[in-house]
Amino acid sequence: MISVEEAIHRILEQIPRLGKERLHILQSMGRVLGEDIIAPRNIPPWNNSAMDGYAVRWQDIDKASPQKGAKLKVLADLPAGRIFEGEVGPGEAIRIMTGAPLPRGADTVVQVEDTKKSGDSVTILACPGKGKNIRLAGEDVQAGERVLQEGTVLRPPHIGLLASLQRSSVSVFQVPRVSILSTGDELLEIDEPWQEGKIINSNSYSLASQVFECGGLPIQLGIAKDKPEALSAKIQQGLTGDILVTSGGVSVGDYDLVKGMLNELGKINFWKVAMRPGQPLAFGIVFGKPLFGLPGNPVSSMVSFEQFVRPSILKMAGHQNLFRPVLRAELREDVEKKAGLIHFIRCRLTHEKGKIYAWVTGEQGSGILSSMVKAQGLIVLPRDKTLASSGEEVKVILLDPMFLNTPQPAYLSLDNPPQKNH
Ligand code: AMP
Ligand code: MG
Repeated sequence: MISVEEAIHRILEQIPRLGKERLHILQSMGRVLGEDIIAPRNIPPWNNSAMDGYAVRWQDIDKASPQKGAKLKVLADLPAGRIFEGEVGPGEAIRIMTGAPLPRGADTVVQVEDTKKSGDSVTILACPGKGKNIRLAGEDVQAGERVLQEGTVLRPPHIGLLASLQRSSVSVFQVPRVSILSTGDELLEIDEPWQEGKIINSNSYSLASQVFECGGLPIQLGIAKDKPEALSAKIQQGLTGDILVTSGGVSVGDYDLVKGMLNELGKINFWKVAMRPGQPLAFGIVFGKPLFGLPGNPVSSMVSFEQFVRPSILKMAGHQNLFRPVLRAELREDVEKKAGLIHFIRCRLTHEKGKIYAWVTGEQGSGILSSMVKAQGLIVLPRDKTLASSGEEVKVILLDPMFLNTPQPAYLSLDNPPQKNH
């Protein structure tokens, strides 16, 4: 028996990162950047106006007040996107729009609200500080600066920044293609006619969705019957992807051929991991590709995927943070457990006044998929414990990223919250 920590460690130290590919920036959302991005120029490229108003020489207006305005001659209108070729001289101003480059000679912008226009002159009625209302060249990004580092997970502002640097494509880590194979004579495909005694292959679908959820690309290999040739052919096919995940056939059972087949491929480890659900686990590198043999029970396969396959997929995809957030919650009922195994208890979560509560989602059998359906998290009960009591603080792996979302904006104190459900 090995610990969960040890299994995670032994797996991750053997997981390679994938290569890189170039993508249009719009396709790169959520991907891991595969290069450092150096700014080719300043942003903004030149000093420009932060306001609609008048570009002036500060010494011309430094005594302006509502009682005694400073009258200036308006040389031109300067919208954003245009350049004023001349220079602002003594007693002169340019009517300037937000974003327009500051004309030579001017050093300050007066907002339009503090001015009064008449004909081709303007009266300035207030004096801002010298240099006010100007966005300086390079105040956002300096030319030559490393603005994004390899390994950054790209989110909307990163894509916007890349666009502002005129980068239409970037290098990102490739997405792992994950072959998924369900094994067992008892299995029936979802669109095959119903047969008494058979079990519907649900694992292929829950596992493929878990792959999608963490950014991988599932490849469905369907079902391999418990026959050596069938299995061998499917495994060969599976190795065309970047990772192969099988479910079923890794525990000790008369019809568990998977074990034998995998053994023939070479360096596969068969572990008993000190966890529930999901003790049996096969892992190895076959022809350079990581291979995971997950147990067949629907909850066991999903929970094992969470612990071992998900971080591996994230590592291959270039991520550095491989693990889900862990919350601290107050347990709302007594839970008994077996000593010697980590238990991952499916739980529903609620939060009230800044405190999070965890509620067990009913029966925890490894075949009870509905326990997983209801779960927003997995309570982690340590190996040595035999009982966790109601009221105890427990660690919870957060599975549902929407859990902390709220129906109303929680940052506003709404005395009369709108009744409407959006
Ligand atoms: P095994 O690990 O092969 O002994 O399978 C354990 C149990 O998991 C079996 O009794 C099956 O009912 C169930 N099982 C195995 N594979 C699947 C699958 N692909 N979909 C749903 N249930 C499965
Ligand atoms: Mg089986």
